[in-house]
Amino acid sequence: MAFVIKKIGIIGAGHMGTGIAHVFALAGLEVHLIDIDEAALAKSVANIDHYLGRQIDKERISVAEKEAAIARISTGTTYDPLGEVDLVIEATTEDEEVKKAVLKAVCPLLKPETLIATNTSTISITRLAARTDRPGKFLGMHFMNPAPKMALVELIRGIATDEDAFNAVRDLVEVMGKTAVTSEDFSAFIVNRIIMPMINEAVYALYEGVASVDAIDTALKLGTGHPMGPLQLADFMGLDHCLAVMTMLHEGMADPKYRPCPLLVKYVEAGWLGRKTGRGFYDYSGDEPMATR
Ligand code: NAD
Repeated sequence: MAFVIKKIGIIGAGHMGTGIAHVFALAGLEVHLIDIDEAALAKSVANIDHYLGRQIDKERISVAEKEAAIARISTGTTYDPLGEVDLVIEATTEDEEVKKAVLKAVCPLLKPETLIATNTSTISITRLAARTDRPGKFLGMHFMNPAPKMALVELIRGIATDEDAFNAVRDLVEVMGKTAVTSEDFSAFIVNRIIMPMINEAVYALYEGVASVDAIDTALKLGTGHPMGPLQLADFMGLDHCLAVMTMLHEGMADPKYRPCPLLVKYVEAGWLGRKTGRGFYDYSGDEPMATR
């Protein structure tokens, strides 16, 4: 009989862990959310409450559905409750050493049949799996940002991932009403592998003086039907995140075509990280974002 996932532990209550907890709780699953930082947990629950409220305003869910979803979420700062869960989703900071330490601490607490997924955007699934006591039950489950809104989840097989584990998580994606695509374990998987070089190329076009910020974004929006221009999208994602993915691609593929644009590097060095710092390729200090070049 197929392994059915009913209870989920999420490690890391940051931006992604919060969105993932929201999605699962609304889909009827029990969620235990863990972070080392109490304040992050409080902020996470408050954000879930707020966004569920917005879904009520838009008449997408009822008040009763919101209350039931909130009641399915528990939180804490220790890993012990993971002994009760069927699936652990690791969504801590994108730092390989942090993730390896978390996996090492968590594995001895889990039931033998518990699956582990990581939401990493760039780190090798096979390498992380090798740090666990269950590489066959380990896979990548890469949610898009923001998780409650985006329909896609990339599922990534490590070299050792077994079919039953993979199928159980694929079925779970369906329960959430999202669509899974399968990727093999290569740097940045599918979406980031394609979107980040496009953003990097847009920054090169700006750097080389091909066109202005406005011209590049307008060209891509009207010329290709993209809802956002690549520089606008980079600001939304965070320029530090874009640079980290490009660097990983460059190193992971050992191919100069992925070289991060020096202008992207300069912006990150300046602390101009996009929307979250008030300035990136646009300045967000006024009523409307203003192009900076
Ligand atoms: P974030 O910085 O918002 O959150 C990370 C959280 O992990 C923080 O609250 C931190 O306190 C917590 N944490 C750190 N060490 C911990 C530990 N040892 N135990 C428990 N909690 C710990 O990061 P994020 O943007 O939510 O990203 C999380 C993961 O999701 C990363 O692997 C990232 O690559 C991936 N991801 C991010 C995006 C994105 O657009 N932000 C999209 C898809 C995937």
